[in-house]
Amino acid sequence: MFVKGHGRNSIAMARRWFDKCEFGHHDCRRETSTSFSPTRLVKISGGRQRLVLSKSLNRPVQSATLSHCWGNIAIHRLLQDNISTFLQDIPADSLCRTFLDAIVIARPLGLHYLWIDSLCIVQDDPADWRRESAAMCDVYTHASLNIAATSARDGSEGCFMNKDNNYLAAHCIAIGQERFMCANSSLYAHNVLDTPLGSRAWVVQERLLAARTIHFGKNQLFWTCQDRIACEAYPERLPGGLVREVDHPSLETEASWREVVAQYSGCELTQSSDKLVAISGLAKRVAQYRPEDQYVAGLWFESLHVDLCWKVGRPEPLPPPPGPYQAPSWSWAALNQRVIFPAEPSSNWAPLMTALQVQTDRVGDDLYGALENAALWVKSGFFLKTRIPKRSQDAKAQRFGESSVSMVIAWDYVSDGTSEFYFCPVLQDVTRSQTQGFVLVATLGEAGEYRRVGHFKEVVEGWPYERLDIVDARVGECLECEPQPGDYVDGFEKGGVDLPGVIKLV
Ligand SMILES: [Zn+2]
Repeated sequence: MFVKGHGRNSIAMARRWFDKCEFGHHDCRRETSTSFSPTRLVKISGGRQRLVLSKSLNRPVQSATLSHCWGNIAIHRLLQDNISTFLQDIPADSLCRTFLDAIVIARPLGLHYLWIDSLCIVQDDPADWRRESAAMCDVYTHASLNIAATSARDGSEGCFMNKDNNYLAAHCIAIGQERFMCANSSLYAHNVLDTPLGSRAWVVQERLLAARTIHFGKNQLFWTCQDRIACEAYPERLPGGLVREVDHPSLETEASWREVVAQYSGCELTQSSDKLVAISGLAKRVAQYRPEDQYVAGLWFESLHVDLCWKVGRPEPLPPPPGPYQAPSWSWAALNQRVIFPAEPSSNWAPLMTALQVQTDRVGDDLYGALENAALWVKSGFFLKTRIPKRSQDAKAQRFGESSVSMVIAWDYVSDGTSEFYFCPVLQDVTRSQTQGFVLVATLGEAGEYRRVGHFKEVVEGWPYERLDIVDARVGECLECEPQPGDYVDGFEKGGVDLPGVIKLV
């Protein structure tokens, strides 16, 4: 097969990295050596390719996976009526450039089997798709290598780009007797994350689950494994500081899940119903590090106080209200927006809310997959009801009356005409007396049932208040707000407002 541009050099570089990892890195080898085999694989040895069923093989085999953008071109797909043909032969001329390049890359590494989603999952069989998407954690975790067509916008562009040699040399300067290495501090993020592939939601888990990935970037190759991240300019290892923890989270810490979500939520998803499915493999992996914990609609029960305090990150303009159900309103997965977590846990943060119980109705059998419904019952120490009759669009930020108290709201989406809101504090910074939590509205369902519409943070001491300002975080404008006596409810029992002690969030 034809190898474009600098393909031969790239394959030689890939082989050096792969061999060093395979024979020298104990942790990487342990991850990939397993008895797990995907249901189907494409056999690529012997000069042709065909689909094989793993159960027909006598033993587990080493395989490579492919991370790629489907793009808008039609690619050859496994369907119910071509399975028998695929098991005989998949002609090379029916495969797109990226698939052919993946074969060219895998063969010299001694990898005779390839897993590609469009060829190994029956694309017109929803049951097969649900079953196989639930197995992605194992498919990517235990593959010997993940080949990432990082710069290709679709299957026609292939893995090998016309590289610029200027990018391949590490730049040094000498000042007097000292030599300094000059490097772009966002080298990894620029080449791996800010790319056509890096913008795809499904690829976040492919990248983070794979024990080894080789990224075919626009300017150079990047290698990531358990032991190191390297690139052609720094073939041994990227110097410290060129990869941030948030760019490549380790998955083992509690905070790393929020880093994953912040990254994932900003990526594009063709089917919004896949919101929880396309990250389910990562959730399954994280569950191994949190065996006592419970995964609930994209959050973790043991860290719920912090996980619930997400907010939409700088939307311009605010998105419309959510469409078809993806997740409960208290989960970031309900929206198709980049979210951030303003609070990271420290000894200064004290919970002001107790999560009592969660109930989820799943679409399939996967504990980490899509949901039909979910509800969370919480008890909060305080609860504030107030009216915001007008969410103004053009006023500048200003103080409200003579109050010295401000409430900064980040709405989840544009107003749907609701004017009565409830503020449920979740966390308090005890050293700075700052509180944050979510803004709720009552649903039209049963009494005591609410849904989330925003995140708030109050910026002065004390709760509850006699007066407050409410400031729209998006445009810094002040919203008209007139709390009435009795709207501040301490412990739900006081204040004369008819609210239950426990609320249900949907
Ligand atoms: Zn390694």
